[in-house]
Amino acid sequence: MHIKKQRLLTPGPTPLYPPALHAMMASDLHHRTEDFRKVYQACVTDLKEVLGTSYDVVPLVASGSGAMEASVSNLFSKGDKVIVCVAGKFGERWEGITKAYGLDSVVLRVEYGQVVTPAQVKEALAANPGTKGVFIQASETSTGASHDIESIAKAVAATDAIRVVDGITGIGTQPLKIEEWGIDVLIGGSQKAFMIPPGLAFLSISPKAWKRADASDLPKYYFNLKKEAKNAAAGESSWTPATSLMLALAKALEYIKSIGPDKLIENAQLLAKATQAAAAELGLELFSKDSPGAAVTAIKAPAGMDSGAIVKGYKQRFGAIIANGQGTMKGQIFRIAHLGYFDFADMFAVIAALELILIANGHKVKLGSGVAAVQRVYAEAAGIQA
Ligand SMILES: *Cc1c(COP(=O)(O)O)cnc(C)c1O
Repeated sequence: MHIKKQRLLTPGPTPLYPPALHAMMASDLHHRTEDFRKVYQACVTDLKEVLGTSYDVVPLVASGSGAMEASVSNLFSKGDKVIVCVAGKFGERWEGITKAYGLDSVVLRVEYGQVVTPAQVKEALAANPGTKGVFIQASETSTGASHDIESIAKAVAATDAIRVVDGITGIGTQPLKIEEWGIDVLIGGSQKAFMIPPGLAFLSISPKAWKRADASDLPKYYFNLKKEAKNAAAGESSWTPATSLMLALAKALEYIKSIGPDKLIENAQLLAKATQAAAAELGLELFSKDSPGAAVTAIKAPAGMDSGAIVKGYKQRFGAIIANGQGTMKGQIFRIAHLGYFDFADMFAVIAALELILIANGHKVKLGSGVAAVQRVYAEAAGIQA
C-alpha cells in the first residue's frame, strides 16, 4: 500500500490510450506540409467513419465548450428563438452561451437527475412557433443522465429548427445516428471517449445547418465554421492546428475503428451496467434513476456521508481521481466514468476500492459483494457460467 499508481477515473479528461500518447512525441512537424495534411485528412475521414456520417466534420482547437460556442455564433442570428434543454450543468452552459449571443432562449429546465422528455420538447415547439434551434446534451455528464436523442430529434423534424446536440460524452457511450435521426449538429471533444488529452473539439454539420451559417449575423472570427470546413477539405485549418493532438487523434481513431465504434459504445454500456449492479449491491442509490447513461454513473453518497469523503478516499488510499458532484450536487454524489479507455479490470478495482472506502467511512458493506456484481455482468457478457 505504499505504491499508489495515479489513476484517472473521471468522465473527462479520461485515461489516455498509450499509443496515442506516444504519437504526440512526433509533433515537431510543420502544419503547412504534405506530411501534416495527410494526418489532418485522415483524422477528418476517420471521424466521419466513427461518427457514421457523410456530413462535414469540422475540427477546432478548443475544449468542447469552444465548439458549443461556435455552433451558436455560426448558425444563429441575433434574437433567434431557440429551445434550450437544461438537465444539469452542461445544459446550463447552453443557456449561458445562447443568452450571451443574444438569442431568445426558451429554457426547458428539469431537476438535476431528471431528463427533458420528447413530449416536453414537442409542447415547447408548439408553444413557440418560429423556433430556430433546439439545444440539448446527449449525455448530461454532471448528473449521469442520458437523453432520448432519437425521439427528441424526430419530434423536431417537422419544424424549421436545427437540432444541436452536445455529444461530448454521448459519443462512444450511446448510439447517435446523425443522418437517420436528423441530428443537425453533433459536437464532440477529444478528452472524452476519444482517449486523448483535452484541446480538440469537432462538429458534424448537416446541410440544413449549413444554410443557417449563410444567414448568421452574429460576430465570429477565430471560430468560423464555413472557413474551417473549406480548409479542412484541403487538409488544412485556418490557424495553427494542435498538431500533437491531431497525431494522437489519428492513432486513437485507428484503434476505435479496429474494435468498431459500436463496440466502444457496448463497452461503456457494460461497464455502466456493472457499476449500477454494484451500487445496488452496496445499498447505494443512482442519482439519475430513470435515465442513467453509460458515460458516467453518478451515485449518491450514503445518508450522512459527504461524497467528498469518498473522492478523498480514492485519492489518498489509491491515488485515484474520481469526480465529485458539480455545483449544488457537490458533496451529494460521486461519479465513476466508463467512457473511452476503461475496461472491466478497471471496474473490478474501482468497486473493490469503493467497498473499502465506504467501510472506512462507516457505511457497512460485505467485502467483495460489489465486486461480485461486476464479475457477474462480465461473466454473463463473456458467456462464462458463474
Ligand atoms: C466535458 C463536457 C463538455 C465540455 O467541457 P470542456 O471543459 O469545454 O471540454 C461539454 N458538455 C459535456 C456534456 C461534457 O461532458
